[in-house]
Amino acid sequence: MSFFKTDRPFLIAGPCSAESQEQVLETAAGLAPLHINLFRAGVWKPRTRPGSFEGYGETALGWLKEAKNQYGIRFTIEVAEPEHIELALTYGTDALWIGARTTVNPFQVQRLADALRGVDIPMMVKNPVNPDVDLWMGAIERFEKVGLKDVAAIHRGFSGYSSSIGYRNQPNWPIPIELKRRLPELVIICDPSHITGNRSRIAEMAQKALDMHFDGLMIETHPRPDEAMSDAKQQITPAHLKEILAGLIVRQESTSDMTSQVQLEYLRQLMDSIDAEIIDLIAKRMELSSQVGEVKKACNMTAYQPARWREIVATTTERALTHQLAPQFIVELYEKIHHESIRHQLSILGSTEKEIKK
Ligand code: PEP
Ligand code: MN
Repeated sequence: MSFFKTDRPFLIAGPCSAESQEQVLETAAGLAPLHINLFRAGVWKPRTRPGSFEGYGETALGWLKEAKNQYGIRFTIEVAEPEHIELALTYGTDALWIGARTTVNPFQVQRLADALRGVDIPMMVKNPVNPDVDLWMGAIERFEKVGLKDVAAIHRGFSGYSSSIGYRNQPNWPIPIELKRRLPELVIICDPSHITGNRSRIAEMAQKALDMHFDGLMIETHPRPDEAMSDAKQQITPAHLKEILAGLIVRQESTSDMTSQVQLEYLRQLMDSIDAEIIDLIAKRMELSSQVGEVKKACNMTAYQPARWREIVATTTERALTHQLAPQFIVELYEKIHHESIRHQLSILGSTEKEIKK
């Protein structure tokens, strides 16, 4: 039985950073009645800018050990160096995780994996800061290859230059969805604290994660969030966490209700036939695009024409709005279609007459 597979969402809570023995014990006292699966705390903090609080290291490990003794609460910490692993194991850590800034570096991940050869400890791998599913999967594989049996993933969102979507890190859902498609048995935990960066949005993001089939949640919790030495805006009190948990709806993947099953089957068949029509139409559109390519070739015109693309964006967005479809979605869909269309035309422009006829 996997360490992370429980019959309710796997719950990890605790402060961003362990700041003092009192703070750790006070948080643990508040969380113990919530039956969390793991207490989290950063003791070595990878900070974006120098000069920020970087954690109390080994001293803080002693506080976590004490919280475990007093409240019977298992704990997990972030490790970034082989020495961190050694110390964390000495202090009786129950699980480890690597942070987003470590996952991006395969050399470092491999050093950590090598330090864990022959050790039986659950490991969680946060997504890399950049939206690269292969890099995330590669880090997971490095730990599995040295023999770790319980490796889970944590989705904490991806860095972007602009925070126009209102989150600290973009959720970019297709990436964790793709990871789960490739590794169906993998447990994926969502970290709404680091995705939203904002305590008022944690409940909504936690619910969304459960609705998206995530297996658990990691939520930063502090007795006095506004005084936190790191990530103050996104931390919540144990009482607030209790309230959020009480409001969460845990959904199942399937239902035993026959009427709903029949209804789903019917609706899915309708959707399948629409999907078939969509593909047939795309094929027809590509055929027309190839004909356009031949005309462009004959007249020595460019494959990509900015004015035409602007026109497509305008007309498709307008049509999307008449159906209450999100314009952003339609533009992204058309970016893909248009790009493929250009690819067809480029191959026509670059090919000889003989190749085109083939
Ligand atoms: C953290 O969990 O406090 C942390 C530093 O997270 P991340 O690696 O997701 O930035
Ligand atoms: Mn944090």
